Amino acid sequence: MKKVKETVLFSVFIAEETIEREKSKAREIRRSRWWHQKCAQGVCFYCGSRVGPSNLTMDHVVPLIRGGRSIKNNLVPACKECNNNKKYLLPMEWEEYLKGRKE
Ligand SMILES: [Zn+2]
Repeated sequence: MKKVKETVLFSVFIAEETIEREKSKAREIRRSRWWHQKCAQGVCFYCGSRVGPSNLTMDHVVPLIRGGRSIKNNLVPACKECNNNKKYLLPMEWEEYLKGRKE
């Protein structure tokens, strides 16, 4: 029984390390020319609002905790509203939210 517990703890530890590594990769990408160009128009990827480059945040389309990575095709500029909503909504609810914004 004790051994099982240790194994679980160990795998959580690895996952946290992976997330930290991906977060630091994301920070690097945030400083890149590629990211600045992506934000230059100031448009949110999800809702299409023009909020200006300084109001855009970097969002992982597939979140890190669900196995997403800090790679260019998983990173999009999102306005703060969409970013927050994405964080707190369940995947199903998020789908609904997106449909509503695009109509
Ligand atoms: Zn948005």
